[in-house]
Amino acid sequence: MKKDLLSLLPEELEAELAALGEAKYRAGQVGKWLTRGVRSFEEMSDLPKTLRDKLDQNFDLYRPKVLSKQVSALDGTIKYLWELRDGNAIETVVMSYQYGNTVCISSQVGCRQGCAFCASTIGGLVRCLEPSEMLDEVLFSELDSGKKISHIVLMGIGEPLDNFDNVVRFLKLVNHPKGLNIGMRHITISTCGLIERFDELAALDLQLTLTVSLHAPDDETRSRIMPANRGRGVDALIEGCRRYYQKTGRRISFEYAMIDGVNDTAFHAQELVRRARQCGAHVNLIPLNRVEERRFRPSTQGHMKAFMKILDEGGVNYTVRRTLGSDVDASCGQLRRRMEKKTETE
Ligand code: SAH
Repeated sequence: MKKDLLSLLPEELEAELAALGEAKYRAGQVGKWLTRGVRSFEEMSDLPKTLRDKLDQNFDLYRPKVLSKQVSALDGTIKYLWELRDGNAIETVVMSYQYGNTVCISSQVGCRQGCAFCASTIGGLVRCLEPSEMLDEVLFSELDSGKKISHIVLMGIGEPLDNFDNVVRFLKLVNHPKGLNIGMRHITISTCGLIERFDELAALDLQLTLTVSLHAPDDETRSRIMPANRGRGVDALIEGCRRYYQKTGRRISFEYAMIDGVNDTAFHAQELVRRARQCGAHVNLIPLNRVEERRFRPSTQGHMKAFMKILDEGGVNYTVRRTLGSDVDASCGQLRRRMEKKTETE
């Protein structure tokens, strides 16, 4: 079977080429073509024909195809829907901030976590993404948009910690000095709280930012809207966050999507204060995005104000997330979902 070329680290490619009787420096040449977006050996014109043939026999390359590209008229946010080699589709979003351009990438096709408010999980998990596929999300978003990517968030479709090994390999690839060379401090992983992976991640000491999708500070509410909480629990989650912070020195953030009448009462705000203090977390309040198939509504302005007042009084650090690209198909998962529905009815 052919090996997935783009999932190999530069030093691994060197070793592979050496095993094929080729000089190590050829790996650098191949690497340069790859970071320019070339995805056929034929086009690697400074390589001898014999080497190109050899590569073709041993390695696999695929170029993701743009199925749709939407550009926000409001803020320039770009949403891509890519087709993968097996016909599956994933979403990637490019957002521009003052500090640079951030790409929000998917880590799985679909998701099996079942959060009640999320569009990505509706059809379940189809498969995990390969390191190469995540890398191409970053690379082709940059090449196609012409926007130099400085920051990466794993907040698209999928649960990154449910695809642990591939995600870690992707991080090493994208961080590699011979690759895109994006600093770990510019990378954020978002998780629904698969705590059994926290220590493993902390042990890698990667200096990235870990964000936890908390969305509710108490077990009753959280288990209702996030099945991943069942059998784990908020206490264990907070303990996991505390340990992660202790080990890495990296402060955790909580994502908190405000859902009308579900997690936005005074009780929830007070509990959130307590939880954030227990592990020194920063809170990111997000106005809920409406998802067609879901019955939840975003909190009212009044409820949000009252909620924030309690956070203020509790001395919790929080920010309210700005909504970007609201005119281009709302939150992640919805583009792919829309395409699936279209093919279902065809
Ligand atoms: N599985 C990971 C990362 C993907 S989701 C996680 O759970 O963190 C990225 C973020 O979007 C998560 O915080 C998720 O809870 C949130 N999200 C999902 N659906 C949403 C919606 N309808 N409105 C607002 N945020 C949503």
